[in-house]
Amino acid sequence: MIASDCKNSIPMQIVILGAGYAGLRAAIDLDRLLRQRGRDDEVTLVDQHNYHQLVQVVHLAATAAIPDKKAIYDLAPLLSNSKVRLVQGRANLIDPLERRVVFADGNSLTYDRLAITLGAETAYVGVPGAREHTLPLHTFAHALRLRDHVIAQFAAAAKERDTKQQRILQTTAIVGGGYTGCQLAGELVTWADDLCRESGAPRAEVRVALIERTNYLLPQFGDWATQAAELVLDRQGVSVYRNTLVEAVEPQMLHIQGGRVLRAGSIVWAAGIAGPELLAQSGLAVEEHGRVMVDRYLRVQDQALIFAAGDCAAVPNSPDPGTVPATASYAMRQGAHLATTLLAEVEGRAPRPYEPLKLGELVSLGPHYAVGNPLGLPMTGYPALWMKKGVEQYYRSILEDGT
Ligand SMILES: Cc1cc2nc3c(=O)[nH]c(=O)nc-3n(C[C@H](O)[C@H](O)[C@H](O)COP(=O)(O)OP(=O)(O)OC[C@H]3O[C@@H](n4cnc5c(N)ncnc54)[C@H](O)[C@@H]3O)c2cc1C
Repeated sequence: MIASDCKNSIPMQIVILGAGYAGLRAAIDLDRLLRQRGRDDEVTLVDQHNYHQLVQVVHLAATAAIPDKKAIYDLAPLLSNSKVRLVQGRANLIDPLERRVVFADGNSLTYDRLAITLGAETAYVGVPGAREHTLPLHTFAHALRLRDHVIAQFAAAAKERDTKQQRILQTTAIVGGGYTGCQLAGELVTWADDLCRESGAPRAEVRVALIERTNYLLPQFGDWATQAAELVLDRQGVSVYRNTLVEAVEPQMLHIQGGRVLRAGSIVWAAGIAGPELLAQSGLAVEEHGRVMVDRYLRVQDQALIFAAGDCAAVPNSPDPGTVPATASYAMRQGAHLATTLLAEVEGRAPRPYEPLKLGELVSLGPHYAVGNPLGLPMTGYPALWMKKGVEQYYRSILEDGT
């Protein structure tokens, strides 16, 4: 379709729900593509916050390893070079029949095409007390809450005279040995030194326990990473418990299968993610983890006008079986692909299928160590750490350059 034809067609309303890694990328890229073609279609980006959060560094914000302003970016300046309309609101429901999104405040927004990029929520997998008595770590707000909580526990320990009670207050139990749990554990043990110095709490009573249900840490990398991560974390003072199932949680107490009990002043739940509940509540097709099901074009199953990407979507890992990992790098590349798919939609062309680019992943284990498999090659130690920091810095520079 040539530009003069485009001008005669009715502009479409494209709504992108969620300004995370996938949604922000999709909005910026789509806006650029539409403008290059002289189209007047309107791109609206919706988020509950007025900032874009760097979820992959929230464990650093939670442990005061970076200042708050390094974990979030105001959305308005990020979009200032574009025509993207920014709407702040919390989506409560998607109504495919009426083609609208309903917000918590009762307002609604209609769309011609909708892209869902809402990220994921914490999965409590039915463990009694987990939702009520643990702290999640999935957003910037969670990070601040966790940081304040741990600081308060150490402050209380400094005033406590009973050693046993001090130990409980200064124990952090992290449930889940994946990305979030391992990265947080590594940072926490380092932060504990500062916390003790500042609060006067005894360093000897600090405990960090990482509890994993399966035999593996960082299972996406395979066996070698379990050994590497366990060794590094153990050396830093983290107690790693594998094959350990948490059956129930009470305030400051974990019930472990086999009748054991672990007391901890701070309990972090990092045992998995699930799709946002509003997806199923809106009648969209979701899989067992509540993620919306999409095809190779990122189109939601049974929905002609709705697309999805990032952690909220079960995206086929084609040509391999299963779905792609829930990581920021995949989410961002899916967002870029979504932009081309939406452009094809407004131009009335057939979209290209999404083909996952498997560049590998990197995970930090405290400030001085990382593991990963860039381009499929196992990598540990400083090289992995430098590469991880490089990837993070690259993302920041994209944001700061406004591209
Ligand atoms: C501690 C931690 C460390 C991680 N480390 C890494 C790493 O090193 N490398 C890596 O690649 N990945 C990492 N990940 C995973 C990565 O952060 C996620 O895969 C990524 O954030 C997914 O991007 P997304 O765009 O799908 O969702 P998100 O980035 O979570 O964005 C979702 C957006 O939707 C908005 N939203 C949600 N619900 C609503 C609603 N109802 N209404 C309006 N707006 C809403 C949110 O405010 C948010 O802005 C880490 C995750 C965690 C928790």
